[in-house]
Amino acid sequence: MPQTLIQPEFRVKIDYDKCHKCGRCVQQCGWGAYAFNERPLPDDSKCRACHRCVTYCPAHCITIEKNPLAYRDNDNWSAALRKNVWKQAETGGVLLTGMGNDKPYLRIFDHLVLDACQVTNPSIDPLREPMELRTYVGRKPDSVEVEPDGEGGFRLAPGAGMTNNIMLETPIIFSPMSYGSVSLNVHKSLAMAATRLGTLMNTGEGGLHADLYPYADHVIVQVASGRFGVDPEYLNRGAAIEIKIGQGAKPGIGGHLPGEKINREVSSTRMIPQGTDAISPAPHHDIYSIEDLRQLIYSLKEASGYKPVGVKIAAVHNVAAIASGIVRAGADYVYLDGFKGGTGAAPQVIRDHIGIPVEIAIAAVDQRLRDEGIRNNASIVAAGSIRSSADAAKAIALGADVVAIGSATLMALGCHLCQGCHTGCCSWGLTTQKPELTRRVDPEWGAERLVNLVHAWSHELQEILGALGVNAVESLRGSRERLRAIGLDEQTCRILGVKPAGM
Ligand code: SF4
Ligand code: SF4
Repeated sequence: MPQTLIQPEFRVKIDYDKCHKCGRCVQQCGWGAYAFNERPLPDDSKCRACHRCVTYCPAHCITIEKNPLAYRDNDNWSAALRKNVWKQAETGGVLLTGMGNDKPYLRIFDHLVLDACQVTNPSIDPLREPMELRTYVGRKPDSVEVEPDGEGGFRLAPGAGMTNNIMLETPIIFSPMSYGSVSLNVHKSLAMAATRLGTLMNTGEGGLHADLYPYADHVIVQVASGRFGVDPEYLNRGAAIEIKIGQGAKPGIGGHLPGEKINREVSSTRMIPQGTDAISPAPHHDIYSIEDLRQLIYSLKEASGYKPVGVKIAAVHNVAAIASGIVRAGADYVYLDGFKGGTGAAPQVIRDHIGIPVEIAIAAVDQRLRDEGIRNNASIVAAGSIRSSADAAKAIALGADVVAIGSATLMALGCHLCQGCHTGCCSWGLTTQKPELTRRVDPEWGAERLVNLVHAWSHELQEILGALGVNAVESLRGSRERLRAIGLDEQTCRILGVKPAGM
């Protein structure tokens, strides 16, 4: 009997007339898809089409194609479904996968368009007029008290009601990705870029490596159920603290970093023994109610000199009521993570079928907090497949203060979306701890690319603001009147608070 029924998904073709026989493809492949015997010999069954070999082949003689006859066409049984059945018949196990949900669900962002100014409300030229992207994360005062400054002006009165906000030069921050799920060089690239951009990166649930201490003013430190790396020093170093309840790519599922990825450095950063699995269960065993959450929020504030504390949840049904409870529990921001978000590793069935789109969650939460008169008490951070500056602008118009990007940052560093992050073999040196692979990301190079990406998106955001005739990103927040829907049903439009195009 054959050992497997699964056919290779891809075919690697080498034009041997052009090949230099240099062996670079063999060295570059993290999946071990090449052998070398006087010339490179690809093993199609191991290829993940990450395109590392294609990119680095000096002769440009490698092509990778989809294997056209691996699966016969069938509209009901897609190739992916058949492959899963065969895999599970062979292994008897849950299917694990990496990166984001790739199913063709309705992408609401692509069905929303932004308004533009014409004669009554003039547009603004962002090249000639200042266009403010600076924004603040945290609780905003309902009013502030001022007193005369003695020189004919006014200053804030002592205890004027100002709160401990975090200033961002752009409404784009980096999503949580833990050291362990990504390499230290990725973390360094993110931290350096966040510092240069005047924005924030996030440790995820993996602790803060000592190499990131110089950038800690631009780091959100995360507290997940496993409490990895959490001690008073960790809490005090960060610019803000984030309690992770859920993740968009795997709502209701905790984190699991296999022991093979827990090397000496990861072990000391996470404060767990080397080589042991790092499991952070879905529930925090000290949070079963909003009162419990409030206790943790205030314990963390107390332990850190009242730094802002946020709470990250996955976008799920009833998210508005959950977010309202979180804000009432004292959180300074609510992080909403939609079901298109990325992940280092998740059961495929969870990643692809559980959760709701972030667009719905943003609008529902923003509206609920406004209706309850508590919108000022916390910021909304939106994430879960923010793919462009247009997505960012639409998320802000729906009600987000800030967007967080994760998959896009990995793509900026080379990720080709091969969805093999859970294997720890990433050829691009991103979601791996193998030293021969992690050294492929130079933090200086990485930081420069991330700074470029966010600068580019920020410029585009300014262009969008100009076209809308507003000169500050804060003026766009929650401006759902500036959005119109194309091809969305009435019910979805109602939840989004967006009119159909033409109205
Ligand atoms: S990297 Fe390109 S040129 Fe070098 S051995 Fe591989 S296929 Fe040939
Ligand atoms: S991070 Fe690496 S392994 Fe994960 S999808 Fe991107 S290229 Fe593939």
